[in-house]
Amino acid sequence: MNQLPNTEIRFVSLVRTEMKICALAVLGAAALAGHILVADVGTATRTLPGFSLLPAAKCDQSRNVRQCLVARPKEWSAEDRGAIQDAMRRLTAHELVRGILVGAKENGYAGLQRFSTYAEQDPARGPVATFNPGFVLYASKVIGITDAFFQTAAVRDPISDYRFGDLILVHELVHAFDNGRGSSEPGFTVVAGWVFKDNRWQYANRVSFSEYLGVYAATLTLNASGRYGEAWARDRSFATSMTFPLPTIQALASPDESFADILAHLIIDSRASTYLKPEVVGWFEKNVFPALRAKAGNFAPADFDLF
Ligand SMILES: [Zn+2]
Repeated sequence: MNQLPNTEIRFVSLVRTEMKICALAVLGAAALAGHILVADVGTATRTLPGFSLLPAAKCDQSRNVRQCLVARPKEWSAEDRGAIQDAMRRLTAHELVRGILVGAKENGYAGLQRFSTYAEQDPARGPVATFNPGFVLYASKVIGITDAFFQTAAVRDPISDYRFGDLILVHELVHAFDNGRGSSEPGFTVVAGWVFKDNRWQYANRVSFSEYLGVYAATLTLNASGRYGEAWARDRSFATSMTFPLPTIQALASPDESFADILAHLIIDSRASTYLKPEVVGWFEKNVFPALRAKAGNFAPADFDLF
């Protein structure tokens, strides 16, 4: 999930896009985590009731070359459906995940859509396919799941043994639930170490930049050769042992990625509270969990055709 400065990242306004270009974000973060674009893929199927595995997006190539020609919307295979359904059955056992699903649906997200890959804009080469298991398009309310998701879903986390696919699903659903709201509110950015300075968000906690670059490069190399578990272990080992520990290096990319990465881990990583700062855990427990529990009270299984 690269966060290159010329990549169309989540914020719609120019000012907020500029905010993303912190020193670390310029160089990108883990290739193995969710991602957000502002690009509009065309038709997010909004006529279907509830929240489901949606048919392939109908792309308008004149509007979005990357998602239509490079990322290539596709239909779900029976195997794809089975894998997502198994994961969602497992995940909705968590009250907070049920709350996140309700929040995503309230925000206008109608379900998950299948793409071959993620695509980003390379300054020299134009649109290029990028290894990335999931992404969110705010403008068209799309939560995209790619081939990379199914290649990596069974990878087990080295710290708490969760399934990597479960993390991706919760991470992307958190983006849809958050929808650009909570992640940049002052309370969160302060506790997570983000400072808005020189017209952009900058990460203020101490990070060894050279070590970060080495870890990031290693994850790219390992992922490119299919060594997904090793890539993930490098990422997790470095991120959780920083001076200000975070779940993964993706949390260094921007406030919204911090928000999604931390909240997803607080839900599915049974050991998250052992490495995260108590004030970070406390902020979520006080400011996010009650709202999610309230939303979970409105969870109607019939609204979610995912199981
Ligand atoms: Zn993300």
